Amino acid sequence: QGILYIVATPIGNLQDCSMRAIQILKQVDLIAAEDTRHSRRLLDQFGITTPLYALHEHNEYHHSQTLTSRLLSGTSIALISDAGTPLISDPGYYLVAACHQAGIVVSPIPGASALISALSAAGMPADRFVFEGFLAAKSGARCKQLEALRQESRTLVFYETPHRIVDSVADMIAIFGAAREVVMARELTKVYETIHRSSLGELFQWLQQDTQQQKGEFVLVIAGAPPQSNEEIPAEAVRIFHLLREELP
Ligand code: SAM
Repeated sequence: QGILYIVATPIGNLQDCSMRAIQILKQVDLIAAEDTRHSRRLLDQFGITTPLYALHEHNEYHHSQTLTSRLLSGTSIALISDAGTPLISDPGYYLVAACHQAGIVVSPIPGASALISALSAAGMPADRFVFEGFLAAKSGARCKQLEALRQESRTLVFYETPHRIVDSVADMIAIFGAAREVVMARELTKVYETIHRSSLGELFQWLQQDTQQQKGEFVLVIAGAPPQSNEEIPAEAVRIFHLLREELP
């Protein structure tokens, strides 16, 4: 039986490809990739000639069955995505789930992920956090998602695209308030890497003033909601609490 390796690839800087990742990508029989043309360029850089198989979000469910059968008959496979760690806002979920069901060994080859890279450099509590991936494309749906997170006290992490960054920050201001702290991590590991910490209001102004900052790839790390003060606990709840306390031994 073959093993399915989940291999992280760089998010910009090619030197972030681990030695183990290169070794596994050379050694396996097949590499399942999101975009085979994009991945071939990466593999060429490292002299990897292993055959590629297209596994993108539109065919993932169907092709996962084919790949599982091949694993069962002894083919070893590595799964990669266009950048970073597969399955993190990227395809692979159906394949990995199918492998577990079929009793196939799944082994991660860890490496870059924009989520963890941004969080590690944000200077916000990272012992507990909430990763929301991409927000909805339309403002109405996006505001609903943000509304559900208004009271979330853990650090929030979002992925964002250049054409939505300004609108998303505007919606975040509407829901979380302009004073909430944010770190915008842009173009991580690349030439124009920018880690910018400010309030949401200041970030919005900065993005408007310097449109260069709207280009590239983004992670937004947002401070969690401050703990609720006592005054916000309803008077009735406080009354019941005191009644109960009197009854306690
Ligand atoms: N699987 C990837 C990972 O582990 O980070 C994420 C894939 S997701 C389709 C692509 C999104 O990740 C981008 O839109 C951006 O939000 C974020 N991203 C990827 N590379 C980045 C980088 N170098 N700098 C900042 N954000 C990045």
